[in-house]
Amino acid sequence: MEPRAFFVAGRPAYGEGELTVRHPYDGRPVGRTTVATPDQVEAAVAAAAGVAAEAAALPAHVRAAALDHVSRRLAERADEIADLITAENGKPVRWARAEVGRAVATFRWGAEEARRYSGELQRLDTDPTGDGRVALVRRVPRGPVLGITPFNFPLNLVAHKVAPALAVGAPIVVKPAPATPLTALLLGELLAETDLPAGMFSVLPLPNERAADLVTDPRLPVVSFTGSGPVGAAVRRAAVEKHVTLELGGNAAAVICADWAADEDLTRAAHRIATFGTYQAGQSCIAVQRVYVHEWLYDGFLPRLVAAVQELRTGDPRDEHTDVGPLISVAAAQRVESWVDEAVAAGATIEVGGRRSGASYPPTVLTGVPADARISAEEVFGPVLVVARVVDDEAAFAAVNDSAYGLQAGVFTHRTDVAFAAARTLQVGGVIVGDVPSYRADQMPYGGVKGSGVGREGVRSAMDDYTEPRVLVLAL
Ligand code: NAD
Repeated sequence: MEPRAFFVAGRPAYGEGELTVRHPYDGRPVGRTTVATPDQVEAAVAAAAGVAAEAAALPAHVRAAALDHVSRRLAERADEIADLITAENGKPVRWARAEVGRAVATFRWGAEEARRYSGELQRLDTDPTGDGRVALVRRVPRGPVLGITPFNFPLNLVAHKVAPALAVGAPIVVKPAPATPLTALLLGELLAETDLPAGMFSVLPLPNERAADLVTDPRLPVVSFTGSGPVGAAVRRAAVEKHVTLELGGNAAAVICADWAADEDLTRAAHRIATFGTYQAGQSCIAVQRVYVHEWLYDGFLPRLVAAVQELRTGDPRDEHTDVGPLISVAAAQRVESWVDEAVAAGATIEVGGRRSGASYPPTVLTGVPADARISAEEVFGPVLVVARVVDDEAAFAAVNDSAYGLQAGVFTHRTDVAFAAARTLQVGGVIVGDVPSYRADQMPYGGVKGSGVGREGVRSAMDDYTEPRVLVLAL
């Protein structure tokens, strides 16, 4: 198996040592790459800094054409890329295809936004001192971006950093997750097909400690990090002088409100929650983890949820029919197992699921979980749902907010007053009414409050993030 090249200043490169990537389902090697040497890292960062002025001056049509090219090529190679995602991440191939589709759209959005991102004209004659004056407010790149990405969406979370950076004309250095670097390297191949100046992008496989050096490098003034809370906190501390965006973890909640009472409503909510509590084996920052059900509806909802979870097919993620595959590693599945065991020791009941096999953990529903048990209070990042009854919507919203995190929440209601109350009350970055918290459209602002992060992604939001306003006042 030939090692896959990484990219230094837009050119394929091979480094030192060997990084073998294994299939989470059966542990067999699925690909290899090498680790960037210190000289290669230096070359990538120096090239990003060196090309920054040229990149910022690139015409919009050049940036848009490059982004459109990547979008088209991702679509053309979709099946191959989905198979690669499944091989290195272990997510079922259906979900891998969905991820490729999202990345196609993310680059297309980048191209569209590159064409229309124009700043504003601001009038200054609101005060006599501004008579006859106007301000042109343009947004200019803050400088080269460092993008650090996690394992759970090896393509689309890289796309969420690369597309907006190229759209605004900012060079980017990507550091993919050590468990899943291959898809990011394939994306590098597609970027290398464009006419962008060399130096505008690099993709560097690096171990964690070497990534920390990039975080402190002053030539990369913007750090966009997606990953776990503790690492995000360390990145923030290390990069106090920089512009930092943190997209961190969550323990997303869904609420079944009192009015969501019809049989078909409960059945639909049960299916959506079963699917999105366990998709990608729960390894999504907005997978449903906590479910708060109005006490009138609890006895009707719980059996439906258990039945929906029992219908999910577990197994080999390469199989078209598999709903839930393995976690990223045996250690990850062992951690989930230990948190479930701990909750059971504290009085919880396993309604379905609960027996680990290697890196696979079955879709599991727990009830009677103490609110402070880790399986409820921390991010499980596994296919486990914790269901609790609440006396009314207010109590449900309070329970949602009783968390160190705040990414998104799902509120099953038909009532607009309840929807607005949820939007007012819930301490999250997004409220999804009538569906699970796991809904994300790639153009919308996306991110969290509290321990879930700082700043927003979504193509347009990230473009705002990677740029700052520059004002030109015309006294005419
Ligand atoms: P992780 O924090 O272990 O790793 C994320 C990235 O940080 C990896 O590329 C890793 O190599 C790098 N890294 C590790 N130590 C570093 C250091 N000291 N300095 C710089 N970089 C370092 O996360 P993970 O296990 O890959 O991903 C899972 C986490 O990501 C979960 O907590 C999940 O909720 C979160 N996540 C958040 C979002 C979001 O948009 N909010 C999306 C997906 C995943």
